[in-house]
Amino acid sequence: MPASVASPLLRVRDLSALRAAVSGFRHKGLRIGFVPTMGALHEGHLALVRHAKTLSDVVVVSVFVNPKQFAPHEDFDRYPRTEDKDAQLLESVGADLLYLPSVDLMYPAVFASSVHVEGPARELEGTFRPQFFDGVATVVMKLFNQVQPDVAVFGEKDYQQLQVVKTFVRDLDLPVNVVGMPTVREADGLALSSRNAYLSTDERQTAARLIVELNAVAEAVRSGGDREKALDAAKANLLAAGFGPVDYVELRDADTLAMADAQTPNLRLLAAAWLGKTRLIDNIAV
Ligand code: AMP
Repeated sequence: MPASVASPLLRVRDLSALRAAVSGFRHKGLRIGFVPTMGALHEGHLALVRHAKTLSDVVVVSVFVNPKQFAPHEDFDRYPRTEDKDAQLLESVGADLLYLPSVDLMYPAVFASSVHVEGPARELEGTFRPQFFDGVATVVMKLFNQVQPDVAVFGEKDYQQLQVVKTFVRDLDLPVNVVGMPTVREADGLALSSRNAYLSTDERQTAARLIVELNAVAEAVRSGGDREKALDAAKANLLAAGFGPVDYVELRDADTLAMADAQTPNLRLLAAAWLGKTRLIDNIAV
C-alpha cells in the first residue's frame, strides 16, 4: 500500500478536478478514506485523519464551513477559517487531498434539495438547532457523492451527528463504511473544538467543568444512584460555575438516542451548554 499517493498535499477547489482525482484513485484500485471537516483543524481532526490512513490507501479531507447547518443568528461569519495552517497540519499527518469547495459550488442559486433524517436527529441538537441536521445530512450526502469514499471517519465529539450520518447511510444504502472515533481532549478533559478559540482565558478554565459534571453523572448512574437527581445536580453545578443557559444534560439510548430508561442496555450521556457567547457540546459513554 502506498504511504501517500499525492505528496505534497493536493489542494482541490473545483468539482471536475476532484472527480478527476477520485477516478484516478479508483482506476488504481485504491481505497479512499474521507474526513469531512469545517477546518480550524486541531488534534481531534488529525486523529480522524490518522485513523482514516490506517483504513484506506488515500485520504481525502474536506474543509467546508457549511452555511446550511447554521441558523442566521449563529456563528457562520465568525467561524475560524485557517486554510494554510490546516493544509500544513494535514500534510504533516500524510493526508493526500484537501478538498475546499466554495459555497457557490456546493449550493448554486438553483439548489433545491435537502436530506432530512428523523429518528436520532429529532431531539437534543435537533431541538435547539432545528436547521442543523438537515444541513449536516445534505452536505455530507453531497460530499459522499463527490468524494465517493469507501470509508468515512467521524468524531464521537459530535455523537448525535455520527448517529444521524450512520442512519441515513443505512437507510439510503450508501456504499460507505462510517467509522466513529473517540473524542480527543485537553489535559483537563475539555473536548478539543474549533469553537474553543472563542473562549476567554477565564471561560477556558470554567469550560473543563462540563466533562467533570458528565463524569459525575456517569459515575452516579453506574453505581445505581438516582438518575434524575444526578442530572439535576449536574445542571445546577454548571449554572453555578458560570455556564448558562444549559440547553440539556440527558441520558439516552446510545444507538437510537431515544430517551433512556432503567432497561436501556447502552447509555450515552450528552450535554450542551452556553459559556458566555460560546455553545459547548460534549458526551460520554456511561
Ligand atoms: P468539525 O470541523 O467540527 O465539523 O468536525 C469535523 C470532524 O471532526 C467531525 O467528525 C467531528 O466529530 C470531529 N471532531 C471534532 N472535534 C473532535 C475531537 N475533539 N475529537 C475527535 N473528533 C473530533
